Amino acid sequence: MFKLWSSRKGQGDEVAVQEVTQDSGNGSSAPHEDNEAAVETVAKILRILGRHAFDLDKGSAESFNREFERWARHVLLGTSTSEDPEAGAFAGDGRRNWGDLCQFVNRHRQHEKTYVVKGFQDLRDVIWTFTSTLSQAFTQDKEHDGRMDSHIGRLRAAVDGKTPEEMKREVLAAAEGLGKLVEDRRQQQRARMERLGDKLKEVEAELGYAREQMTLDPLTQLYNRAALDQHIERVSALSVISGFPACLLMIDIDHFKQVNDTYGHRAGDAVIRQLADRTVLTFPRKTDFVARYGGEEFVVLLQDSSLEVGRGLGERLLEAVRQSLFQHEDQELEVTVSVGLAELISGESSGSWVERADRALYEAKQNGRNQLRAAGVDL
Ligand code: GH3
Ligand code: MG
Ligand code: MG
Repeated sequence: MFKLWSSRKGQGDEVAVQEVTQDSGNGSSAPHEDNEAAVETVAKILRILGRHAFDLDKGSAESFNREFERWARHVLLGTSTSEDPEAGAFAGDGRRNWGDLCQFVNRHRQHEKTYVVKGFQDLRDVIWTFTSTLSQAFTQDKEHDGRMDSHIGRLRAAVDGKTPEEMKREVLAAAEGLGKLVEDRRQQQRARMERLGDKLKEVEAELGYAREQMTLDPLTQLYNRAALDQHIERVSALSVISGFPACLLMIDIDHFKQVNDTYGHRAGDAVIRQLADRTVLTFPRKTDFVARYGGEEFVVLLQDSSLEVGRGLGERLLEAVRQSLFQHEDQELEVTVSVGLAELISGESSGSWVERADRALYEAKQNGRNQLRAAGVDL
């Protein structure tokens, strides 16, 4: 005889203790029914774990969900747990492999734990580095302000009742002091940025992960306009903190209306899709961001890239488009694009950044198309 805790749905949902004997039938569930219920519950728990699995460095949420589903089916039906039944170590002969199931759940849980603990630790490190660097910056700024005030005070005093000779001496001393102050500040800022550099690289990598959550344009499978707007804000904020350069390229197909008019709208769609693929191939870095801006226009955002790097890559895209024919059914089409390039100016709004790239694109069109124009600071 053993005691079984069972919960009974009734008024008040009270929990009752039932006494059952192993061979009793009257009013209690039989052991084989309990076994069945236990097996079903284990399968249910496995499916819950699969449904709520999340992406880890070792695999995606979907792949884990599939793996849990295979184990749930194994528990219910005795089927193989291998993805490829031929290659499976376990043939699926109807017997349950409880030991391997335990190991699988244990291993998965350990991966999750390691991943989450490491993720929090990395995040803490980043926050701590940022906080300590900021607090250092505030302290140093305060000290600089004090030294600046003292130089300005001396300058003020130099004007009152001094001979021209004395005035000249005081002004030169103040100028020298201020110059040294500016140089000190520059060096301290550079040291701070170097210290932040590695951490910022981690934040940039995190940006890459956040991208996976963004929505895609159905025709090209590139990021859509909303995702682009969000990413532009992030990249410009990061560039302000890090001082790393960032570039934006605006790409527009030349005379695209003629493509539609001559070959039809579906051919136009095919060209847009193929240009999207070529653009992604030209900008393959994890931090490169390619989006469909609208119609036959694309935008590429390059982190940590100077104007010259942006120009080189933009020219490479122009060349790739010139060199390849676009296909639609049995037709081959020649297409060219124009590119406007702008490097982010420190402190400018993302709207102004896009606008300068757009104006550079307009210049490329005015200048004969099939070329790249880079925006100057005042363009
Ligand atoms: P330009 O060299 O000055 O850029 O000339 P263009 O003909 O490319 O530019 P315009 O803005 O006059 O025409 C763009 C055309 O793109 C008009 C529009 O019908 C077409 N278009 C926009 N979105 C799509 C699309 O998703 N599929 C197709 N097939 N055509 C599109
Ligand atoms: Mg256009
Ligand atoms: Mg166009």
